[in-house]
Amino acid sequence: ISISHRERTAFNPRPTGRVPVGITRRRMRTVVTGGAGFVGSHLVDVLMARGDEVIVIDNFFTGRKDNVAHHLDNPRFELIRHDVVQPILLEVDQIYHLACPASPVHYKYNPIKTIKTNVIGTLNMLGLAKRINARFLITSTSEVYGDPLEHPQKESYWGHVNPIGVRSCYDEGKRTAETLTMDYSRNEGVEVRIARIFNTYGPRMCLDDGRVVSNFVSQALRKQPMTIYGDGKQTRSFQYVSDLVDGLIALMEGEHIGPFNLGNPREFTMLELAQVVKETIDPNATTEFRRNTADDPQKRKPDISKAKQLLNWEPKIQLQDGLPRMALDFKNRILKEEQGDID
Ligand code: NAD
Ligand code: UDP
Ligand code: UDP
Repeated sequence: ISISHRERTAFNPRPTGRVPVGITRRRMRTVVTGGAGFVGSHLVDVLMARGDEVIVIDNFFTGRKDNVAHHLDNPRFELIRHDVVQPILLEVDQIYHLACPASPVHYKYNPIKTIKTNVIGTLNMLGLAKRINARFLITSTSEVYGDPLEHPQKESYWGHVNPIGVRSCYDEGKRTAETLTMDYSRNEGVEVRIARIFNTYGPRMCLDDGRVVSNFVSQALRKQPMTIYGDGKQTRSFQYVSDLVDGLIALMEGEHIGPFNLGNPREFTMLELAQVVKETIDPNATTEFRRNTADDPQKRKPDISKAKQLLNWEPKIQLQDGLPRMALDFKNRILKEEQGDID
């Protein structure tokens, strides 16, 4: 067991309970697993800005220290290199459990590790939440719907998932993680929240993680053809990362367990996405077709009416506005890479 011990005296058993007028609210102590990754680091920025004490747990499989480097000198921030497959002892109020590779290329790289992270990692974080009476949020995925037969997908849809396919380590792993989360809620009284995240993009994504938005943007900036897999008529809905972070915090602070779909309901084919990249990043960008990967879902689009109604949340940033923000960050990093800096 790897133990990182933080000396704390008072422990507040009501993590987000209302504090009576006149009494100063104690600073929230928050853990973000996977906090050095793409989504996690943006979440950390918002939690730090609101004054939390933030502990990031990350094994740096796909995350980078660079993503949180701007907080390292802040006494409210702590970065722990740790693998969630191993138990850990901490004292906090809230746990955002994000640790898990999200890009198909990364999660298929070592599928057994992916399923261990999803199952044993989530079990450990739930065990931690139970012991310290912390509120726990899991970032599940639209992939729990598999190659969906219902369109758009509502939270009540049970999915169409191949249990023995190359994506199963991720989608079945996340389904089990959701099951564990609900069982700790029902049997152990842990306060839990479940987010089902749809494709998200933005600054700090890995440049070459194989996801479609990062691929197209990197390819356009490097003057390489954008690689369209299959006929390009499959669809996805792309959410800008700041919208997702707002949704995760609204969910954590709210009264509802979920699951909640968090995604942008505007649906694009990959051909249309390539067209938007052309319009917003480089009018001379070209495309080429490649064979598609196995088990690729044909359609994906969230029904977000539940999150709209119960969390008062909906995405604000559309692809045309989000892509240039991401391209700016990618341009800087590609430039650094070309100058020989290690990214
Ligand atoms: P990411 O790969 O950028 O971040 C994942 C982070 O978890 C990385 O920092 C990685 O180093 C860390 N990690 C992985 N395995 C770990 C382990 N065993 N122990 C400790 N740390 C570990 O991915 P992301 O896009 O930021 O995704 C964050 C979460 O959101 C994931 O749980 C993912 O499944 C979920 N999600 C993301 C998307 C999306 O489009 N980005 C969509 C659906 C769900
Ligand atoms: N766990 C952890 N930190 C804690 C408490 C528990 O990492 O502070 C791990 C623990 O090692 C176990 C898992 O969480 O593997 C589930 O814990 P729980 O107490 O629910 O189950 P048990 O230990 O009884 O199997
Ligand atoms: N895709 C593509 N070109 C690429 C990478 C992906 O056309 O360079 C397609 C892929 O086949 C899938 C969609 O884009 O249909 C989204 O893939 P991604 O890996 O981004 O996420 P997924 O939703 O499959 O997890």
